[in-house]
Amino acid sequence: MRYLPLSQLLGSMLAFPSYRAMFRETFNNRRTTESLTDIFDGFAFEDQERYFNDEFSVGLALFCDSFAPFDAGRNSVSMQLIHLVVMNLPKDERYKNKNMLQVPIALGPLKPKNIHSFLSPLMEELDQLSKDGMVLRVDDEPDDIMIHAHLLLASGDLPGVSDLVHHTGHTSHYGCRTCRIESFSLISPKGGGQGQYFPGTEEVVTERNDDDFFGRLPNYGILASNPFVHLVTYHSPFFYGQHANANTPFTLERHQQIRIGKVLKESHLLMPIGLDGDIGDIFARSKSSRAVDFIDFLVFVLPTVVYEQLEQNGCPVLEPLMSLVNGCSLALQWEITYNPEPPEREGDSQQPSDLDRLRRYLKEWHTFMYNDMPHNLYIINIHMLTHLADAIGVLGIPRAISTRSIERAIAMI
Ligand SMILES: [Zn+2]
Repeated sequence: MRYLPLSQLLGSMLAFPSYRAMFRETFNNRRTTESLTDIFDGFAFEDQERYFNDEFSVGLALFCDSFAPFDAGRNSVSMQLIHLVVMNLPKDERYKNKNMLQVPIALGPLKPKNIHSFLSPLMEELDQLSKDGMVLRVDDEPDDIMIHAHLLLASGDLPGVSDLVHHTGHTSHYGCRTCRIESFSLISPKGGGQGQYFPGTEEVVTERNDDDFFGRLPNYGILASNPFVHLVTYHSPFFYGQHANANTPFTLERHQQIRIGKVLKESHLLMPIGLDGDIGDIFARSKSSRAVDFIDFLVFVLPTVVYEQLEQNGCPVLEPLMSLVNGCSLALQWEITYNPEPPEREGDSQQPSDLDRLRRYLKEWHTFMYNDMPHNLYIINIHMLTHLADAIGVLGIPRAISTRSIERAIAMI
């Protein structure tokens, strides 16, 4: 393992006047009212703002993911990638490869038993940068600049976050890290063994609280405390981000898959290089597609090319399927409106905000999946959607905090 000190990385970044200018711009324009455009607009930041009262207080998002860089069967090597995104950079800059900070990289034949043993140098440094900060002397500023750093988020894919919070994982009985929903062990739809499924009840289950994440209720699937809960910026289960990942239980005939795959492949030629949404023929290479490709598929391809095919099939559930598409499309907007105050009386007319509509669409999808579909189709990714509206209220738009960045970074490696 190698560790590049965070203070050095931040110091090198802020030595450039162009980066200092971007930090200043974010600082001066960071809060909007009645719409969410970034993590700084979420409810969590209202409490955290007191730690960000100067332009070089750095807000960081940590992402954790493990993957196998070489496909070598039993001799495969596992890499644990930890990566920091500097939220002070504008949204179109922060996810560029040159601007993301890869801190410790653990490499070995096995996944580390406890990821926090690798993270401890980073957490110690963060503690110091949060409390005392550091001074940077730069020639073209009249005074030395003071840098502080705080973590706003610690997230990753489902197994990555399970490692970070000592959760028993999404295949366990209490398989949601955000709430205490009890999963059911059912025969998988293909009949090839048991799986854990999360239909819950018709009403949405309440979130976990500090008792869980401090490791005080290990019977609910969070086995031990984690260092993030001691940070001044820690707030709730949403500190660990939220997956905007949706798989649907609908299948298409093989010839329809081929036709859609062909359209996707042809559209590839029209795409500018490197543009998100260039997903190619995901049916032909579904094993190598990343989860983010399926989100693009759901939002861009399903309502257009696939809708036609399902309509031809006489699919009886197009309405709930479109609720899912509409909910996910709203979640992926760069600006999501919300009503800071609920209407005073029931029946008061108020234009529903994007966040209200998103909540309604995903509730419709949940109700349909709960009432009309076999419960062994209710997988964890569908359950996570029931938390999405609350997560967006707390953390701002998913695009600003997406785990997409680390998945793309892994693709690059
Ligand atoms: Zn849950």
